[in-house]
Amino acid sequence: MPSTKISSSSEVESEKKHFSKSNLVRPSEIKKYLDEYVIGQDNAKRALAVAVYNHYKRILSDTLDDDVKLDKSNILILGSTGTGKTLIAETLARLLDVPFAIADATALTEAGYVGEDVENILVRLLQVANYDVYKAQAGIVYIDEIDKVGRKTSSPSITRDVSGEGVQQALLKILEGTNAQIPPKGGRKHPEQSLISIDTKNILFICGGSFDGLSGIISKRINSSEIGFGKSLKSKLSEEENFEKVLPQDLIQYGFIPELIGRMPIISSLSTLDEKSLLRVLSEPKNSLLKQYKKLFKIENIDLDFHKDALIEIVKCAMNYKSGARALRSVMESTMLDLMFNLPEFFDSGVHKITITKEFITSGKDPILQKRKKSA
Ligand code: ADP
Repeated sequence: MPSTKISSSSEVESEKKHFSKSNLVRPSEIKKYLDEYVIGQDNAKRALAVAVYNHYKRILSDTLDDDVKLDKSNILILGSTGTGKTLIAETLARLLDVPFAIADATALTEAGYVGEDVENILVRLLQVANYDVYKAQAGIVYIDEIDKVGRKTSSPSITRDVSGEGVQQALLKILEGTNAQIPPKGGRKHPEQSLISIDTKNILFICGGSFDGLSGIISKRINSSEIGFGKSLKSKLSEEENFEKVLPQDLIQYGFIPELIGRMPIISSLSTLDEKSLLRVLSEPKNSLLKQYKKLFKIENIDLDFHKDALIEIVKCAMNYKSGARALRSVMESTMLDLMFNLPEFFDSGVHKITITKEFITSGKDPILQKRKKSA
């Protein structure tokens, strides 16, 4: 099979320069940047800031002439849907100005089966990097729903199945660092195709999942060890509290092969966002939904404002979906649809400010409209 490796010494030099000591973003700076976009999740943000810093420090150290080689550490994030797993990964990539790709583990299959080859994850990264192999090789990949390759059935008594293990083996290869040969446009490899070689040793893989059922495994382990020491049964911990106590052995019991877990030594867990946090998500992040809607209205020369109890009502609706902050957008979209539809007409009729009230959300009452003073 022909294989293309695009390289030039100037590119190698520029890669080194990109990771020079003075260019490394400090953990405190990474955390500060994450704070601007991600609400809450303080422990995870701190842990990830250090992990990412160390990752790029390791790349830098590869250029030093000594015998101590730092191991590659990928990251595993546990947390229910809509808690910010993808958001954290993409925010990190934006700060570091490296290519970023998202892959869905549920679509992956072993090579030779119907579905996506694991190596296709790299095709996406290469595309985002505009086919610049060197850039792609220092990128970040977020693999969503990684828990689904650990176990294919919801029954806690049955561990991983065979096809799940095949995908895990393939993932292991790219996570630990390999020279992957990928077809430039994705899809299946075929014999006459020219392939691009990508070295994955410096690609940071962040894997995330909601890990339904894992909490039970953790609490069983904790409880059985405590009974063994003659202590009384502790009161039941919440899923979040259990996640904070996760050990590699729990993930292996969940259905992961030990080698793959060994390649994700940094494990962080995200908390479920409560009403207060969702309220903050609506308005505080740099590109929060409220700021985005205000901008959309401002383009039509109309100011948009919300009463506090209207925002609380939006959050309450979103909480019903049980999909974390993810639901906020859809609730906002449906809430604002009619107003957005008529926005140009509002402007024509002299409206310069619209205030959203609680009653607008709950019973569809008109919002407060303020009109421009007519010039004499
Ligand atoms: P998941 O944990 O399922 O990967 P995402 O990161 O994709 O969740 O978040 C879904 C949506 O909710 C995104 O629009 C994101 O901006 C918002 N969101 C989720 N968690 C947070 C958070 N902690 N702070 C700010 N926004 C959040």
